[in-house]
Amino acid sequence: MLDKRKFYINGKWVAPSKPNDLDVIDPCTEDSIATISLGSKEDTNAAVSAAKAAFESWKESSKEERVALLEKLLNIYKKRYSEMVDAISLEMGAPADWSKDVQTASGQSHIEDFILRLKEFEFDKKFSPESNNRICYEPIGVCGLITPWNWPINQIGLKVVPAFATGCTMILKPSELAPLSAMLFAEMIDEAGFPPGVFNLVNGDGAGVGTDISSHPDINLVSFTGSTRAGRLISKNAAETIKRVCLELGGKGGNIVFADSYPNAVRDGIRNVMSNSGQSCDAPTRMLVEKSIYERAIKEAADEANLIKVDHASKKGDHIGPVISKTQYDKIVNLIQSGIDEGATLAAGGPELPNGMNKGYFIKPTIFTNVTNDMRIAKEEIFGPVLSIIPFETEEEAIKIVNDTEYGLGNYLQTEDKEKAKRVSRKLNAGIIYVNGIGPDAGTPFGGFKQSGNGREGGVWGLEEYLEVKTVTDWKE
Ligand code: NAD
Repeated sequence: MLDKRKFYINGKWVAPSKPNDLDVIDPCTEDSIATISLGSKEDTNAAVSAAKAAFESWKESSKEERVALLEKLLNIYKKRYSEMVDAISLEMGAPADWSKDVQTASGQSHIEDFILRLKEFEFDKKFSPESNNRICYEPIGVCGLITPWNWPINQIGLKVVPAFATGCTMILKPSELAPLSAMLFAEMIDEAGFPPGVFNLVNGDGAGVGTDISSHPDINLVSFTGSTRAGRLISKNAAETIKRVCLELGGKGGNIVFADSYPNAVRDGIRNVMSNSGQSCDAPTRMLVEKSIYERAIKEAADEANLIKVDHASKKGDHIGPVISKTQYDKIVNLIQSGIDEGATLAAGGPELPNGMNKGYFIKPTIFTNVTNDMRIAKEEIFGPVLSIIPFETEEEAIKIVNDTEYGLGNYLQTEDKEKAKRVSRKLNAGIIYVNGIGPDAGTPFGGFKQSGNGREGGVWGLEEYLEVKTVTDWKE
């Protein structure tokens, strides 16, 4: 059992102001694997004071100084890569290969990409060739960063790294369900030699440290990734101090599979939903299939789902792991049952534990067909390996169904007709449209429309979130 009860404040690992232990559970075995502390207001205040004091000099640091420290951090991340793989695997049950090739890799790629963007970013520039006005980008100040458990180091990379890069100081509160990767990242930051107080980590839950961060008068920005439910509360708590609130929230992605899509489109769509055990905010969880290929598609979908193995994180090879917690497990099983009760057809999977398993939060890859968009399984974010298939007849009907949701994070479309692809992409309401199974390039923005949030992370957009913009008139050269 790991003892992880300390917080990282002002460049040191310190004990919490009062004990409040929480066990971290391995979702594969349901065993306790570590003990962390849930912080109190005093701990948050200590971290914020350290960040506020450090900001005075860190905001004056040069771009070159920050690039050098980030390059040091990158080297340490690479050196300790396998420790990160193990931490993510342990805390969220991510299969070893998935943790290595995808989860841990995402952290490295964010550090690399932000170093490139930082080198190119102009913090200070002439407004236009004929103007004497100057546009100056300045760090916003002390940032509160609140992250989820499903892509732990991906989200930390998308927040901590641009906050560093822009000259901000910060307090990170990772998910209390998966705090080990964040604590390891804090060790790396310490090893890289960032000045004390620039980065601070306090563990805690949403009701405690999360709320204290959101409402803290000395925090200038809150960047949050998590559920839309918590996003609403954070916005309300932040309102009193008018801080900037950047929200990356849930999703209910639609994936339009036209009859002229590439041959593997249905199978790829299934793999995409089931990867990470269905715990991705931009997962294409509603597959809309053109009527003329509907029967073929449901057969392929069920076949593919039945091919996906569910197993322990420690097992090598291609499989999915458990979902994060008992709470999530119960919610997913309940939603699968609601699909059955509301009359959708179960084509694969179901609410029972996978064969041969009697422990751990494992869910069978589950496919529903004959779903209508008003069923709970089509409306609510399930956050498990569950897909709903909905038939459509016309392009307009498909667009209408995909957009008929309160979310707008990632939508998908599959067609070999490039004009149709462009036309439909323009009409879908989401921050990212994945076309023909192609992923986004590093440094493109990621974020949602509607109740999927208001922020854009990654690349230049990710840097700008942490900056104030100042106009200065009559700036003579
Ligand atoms: P969650 O909202 O329960 O928790 C996320 C984080 O917020 C945790 O650190 C938690 O302790 C904290 N939190 C909870 N309530 C809070 C409150 N009232 N005030 C302040 N902090 C609070 O979400 P989760 O279950 O950890 O993560 C899954 C959710 O995250 C899904 O809805 C998913 O779609 C979303 N997500 C979105 C993106 C994106 O980029 N849009 C990426 C990953 C995950």
